[in-house]
Amino acid sequence: MKKLPDTIADARLRPIARRVWEGRPVSGADALLMLNSSSILDLGRLASFVRGKLHGDAAYYGVSMNLNFTNICELRCPLCAFSRDAGRKDAYLLTLADMERRVKKAAAAGVDEVHIVGGLHPDLPLSYFEDLLRSVKRIAPRMFVTAFTAVEIDYFSRREGIAPEETLRRLMAAGLGAMPGGGAEIFAPRVRKIIAPKKISGKRWLEIMRAAHGLGLKTNATMLYNHVEKPADVVDHLARLRALQEETGGFKTFVPLAYHDANTGVPAKRRSATGFDDIRVYAAARVFLHNIPHLKALWMYVGEKMAQTLLNFGVDDFSGTYSGERVVHAAGAATADRGSEAFLRELIEDAGFRPVRVNASYEPCGRSA
Ligand code: SF4
Repeated sequence: MKKLPDTIADARLRPIARRVWEGRPVSGADALLMLNSSSILDLGRLASFVRGKLHGDAAYYGVSMNLNFTNICELRCPLCAFSRDAGRKDAYLLTLADMERRVKKAAAAGVDEVHIVGGLHPDLPLSYFEDLLRSVKRIAPRMFVTAFTAVEIDYFSRREGIAPEETLRRLMAAGLGAMPGGGAEIFAPRVRKIIAPKKISGKRWLEIMRAAHGLGLKTNATMLYNHVEKPADVVDHLARLRALQEETGGFKTFVPLAYHDANTGVPAKRRSATGFDDIRVYAAARVFLHNIPHLKALWMYVGEKMAQTLLNFGVDDFSGTYSGERVVHAAGAATADRGSEAFLRELIEDAGFRPVRVNASYEPCGRSA
């Protein structure tokens, strides 16, 4: 077998290949170079090398449902097409009975995990969410629950006047299994001021994640790209995640999210991300974040064709079936809001990978090859 550096055509990327081949972390300057490179076949070789070492030919997917319990949110971030002010005719709040009905239906259909996130609703106490989690576990004890972003955990804690650790402990006792990585956006304050001025700072987001990891709760980390960020902001974001991961080891998955701008209030959006842009972000992230085991492509965000392609650019997690997703569809995602298991498996196999059905903890579930 040829050494990785010998397979790289672009001489500028060869020093990176040498570091990857020797198992050494690449630098921020390396990440910037990859984010500006058009040698995507080389990026694919670099990212696939890292992916292959970690996961071989496995490509994970989940059979999951979404519960976006309310779109009423105090923050109304410019980046968000999903949220509404209370009192608007399209504002909603699901009742506990509604959600129980949905969970029962999903459990009967063999769904393995539920993702629960929503707006920052001023009237909902922490006990409402504890009741919700307990009810999910009562209806479907084996259902894996991924719920509440760092932004929500911060909000619940401030509302209750308790420390985030206490909020997390109570939610874990009620059935919380892992946290999603939402709300990270881009950490750079300059960008945050434009896309989500009232949201917690990047520093606070990292503090909440540190607290979760300290309690043994695994989390994802996201990054929203394709708006007003610059490649240097992406590198800064990745570097902060890598540093926290060095400290805690609590991130299981990194999830880049391609921004959709329909119905949002972000003023100066740059051109839409091209296929090459998506590939650069994913491949550079896979190589730079050597210490975060999984890289997830949400096919609903990048489209199923690009998600399938990204399996050859570092992605090992193809995300899930996501019945009932409302957030990215409010921002104009053109993909179906659910994919059947057969559809996901077909896309994975067609790309030459072995589909493995897992929950958010990467424990094998139900049918898998
Ligand atoms: S992005 Fe989250 S916090 Fe911001 S308005 Fe939308 S739901 Fe609320």
